[in-house]
Amino acid sequence: MARTSVTSVSERRLEGKVALITGGASGIGEATTRLFIKHGAKVCIADIRDDLGRRLLESLGSGTNARFIHCDVSKEDDISKAVDFTAETFGTIDIMVNNAGIIGNKVPDIREVDLHELQKVFEINVDGVFLGMKHAARIMIPRGKGSIISTASTASTIGGLGPHGYTSSKHAVVGLTESVAAELGKHGIRVNCVSPYGVPTGLTLPLLPAWWGTGLVMKFFYAVAGFMANLKGVNLEASDVAEAMLFLASDEARYVRGLNLTVDGGLTVVNGQVKLVTGVLSW
Ligand code: NAD
Repeated sequence: MARTSVTSVSERRLEGKVALITGGASGIGEATTRLFIKHGAKVCIADIRDDLGRRLLESLGSGTNARFIHCDVSKEDDISKAVDFTAETFGTIDIMVNNAGIIGNKVPDIREVDLHELQKVFEINVDGVFLGMKHAARIMIPRGKGSIISTASTASTIGGLGPHGYTSSKHAVVGLTESVAAELGKHGIRVNCVSPYGVPTGLTLPLLPAWWGTGLVMKFFYAVAGFMANLKGVNLEASDVAEAMLFLASDEARYVRGLNLTVDGGLTVVNGQVKLVTGVLSW
């Protein structure tokens, strides 16, 4: 029997669904929260930044289907409570977005890298994702459905885009996605991740000197990102990443699992040196 075509699907693609979004108080997580709510979802924002989380709730307006809970994703007790809070408040969890992440310090010389610093990045970027998957599965397995989405990065597939801890932790997010997808498929649960290229957020902008001022920082950010990018003429924004999350969360992606969905304008599939040479030769 023919299925309803995507074009005739409701404009509100997450109507009635419940999502828990870690790191949902700013950047990509905030954009995802806003988009999911626009599409009819109820969203619980889990973050360590209570100030940003509460400000976001206020800006969404009273009566919206959003809640905030303080949650440090590197602590199992916090994740477990956030999952229970979401399920108790909204009835269930259909979508788990493991988005919280940090980049760690950029240390140009491996001999200077502090192991504890690297471990801290893993605690949040890897343990946090694993714990989100584990506790969301508690709710999703008995229901026989659910969508788990984690935020990886272009650094999940190539080296040189971030510090060692960040790059290896994001590779691990892809590994976890594939491993957990292999286990949870039999329960009807889809597990995927999204890999964005550079977006100006609280994670990336502090890498540039604050005294430049916001205008210059943004111009420099997009100039460098644009120079390295394969796709020209488009500045990647948090809302673009949120759209990829929306696709994976929605029923339109009902047969998509184990995917690392790159939102990078082709950066990771084009060798930079080849691009430079072909650019010079105008191929
Ligand atoms: P951001 O700093 O704006 O957002 C990260 C959020 O995670 C913040 O709200 C922060 O408070 C929260 N957070 C940090 N540690 C936490 C913890 N222990 N527990 C709970 N919440 C915590 O940055 P962003 O760019 O929106 O980052 C979101 C995700 O996107 C991260 O996983 C990041 O690695 C990934 N990412 C970002 C980019 C980029 O260029 N901005 C590119 C690729 C991937």
